[in-house]
Amino acid sequence: MLALNNVEVVYDRVILVLKGLSLSVPEGKIVALLGSNGAGKTTTLKAISGLLQAENGRVTDGTIEFCGADITNRDAEEIARRGIFQVMEGRRVFEHLTVEENLIAGSYTRKDRRHLKKDLALVYHYFPRLADLKHRVAGYLSGGEQQMLAIGRALMARPKLMLLDEPSLGLAPLLVAEIFKIIKEINQQEGTTILVVEQNANIALSIADYGYIMENGKIVLEGDVAKLKDNEDVREFYLGLT
Ligand code: ATP
Repeated sequence: MLALNNVEVVYDRVILVLKGLSLSVPEGKIVALLGSNGAGKTTTLKAISGLLQAENGRVTDGTIEFCGADITNRDAEEIARRGIFQVMEGRRVFEHLTVEENLIAGSYTRKDRRHLKKDLALVYHYFPRLADLKHRVAGYLSGGEQQMLAIGRALMARPKLMLLDEPSLGLAPLLVAEIFKIIKEINQQEGTTILVVEQNANIALSIADYGYIMENGKIVLEGDVAKLKDNEDVREFYLGLT
């Protein structure tokens, strides 16, 4: 469904961050992109979603293909229309709007607004807590609730491909487990393809089908989750096992 071929990304014309990155995400799967701070994970997601341009970044070599079309350096709006939705790191919600207003704002890429009620019901099915909080102003929600809202907004757009940037960031372990369980359910029940970026390799590999590990702008290791979990380096450096 998605393929990055030798992608190079440069910020401000001189700062080379992705140095020939290749990865692919098959339809219906969950793929995890792991790596330490500053490896270029967020940059990879922004290159796919087109949000790179807003930061003066550009794909300077290689290609990004989505459902057979070349989307390299296309603008964010066009890419969203094609069915890619990025949930940004840090749970960016509209703080002054209520939960439900945030969800309705998430449906802007959908052509048929008659399905709004059905879509809201779908989000509340996966996140019952958001139904209880629907009239609450988003800025007052806890970190975990805001993360649920951020994912709920993505769901409203019914994307073909959801890009998740560190959904576990800053959340208590129990909440992280709950959110990842819901991500897996969305994948299985809605058929949504997911590319998830994580520093928490344990939780990401617990739901993923396939994983990539990146360092310094490149993929250094990839494989089925079972294979990655067996790899000595992955066990030591990413899973905290010896
Ligand atoms: P983190 O987990 O900290 O978000 P990451 O793996 O997602 O790390 P990126 O955020 O993609 O990494 O950053 C990779 C490199 O690109 C870093 O060295 C960072 O300083 C640089 N970088 C990111 N955004 C910009 C920007 N807008 N302009 C210039 N350099 C940037």
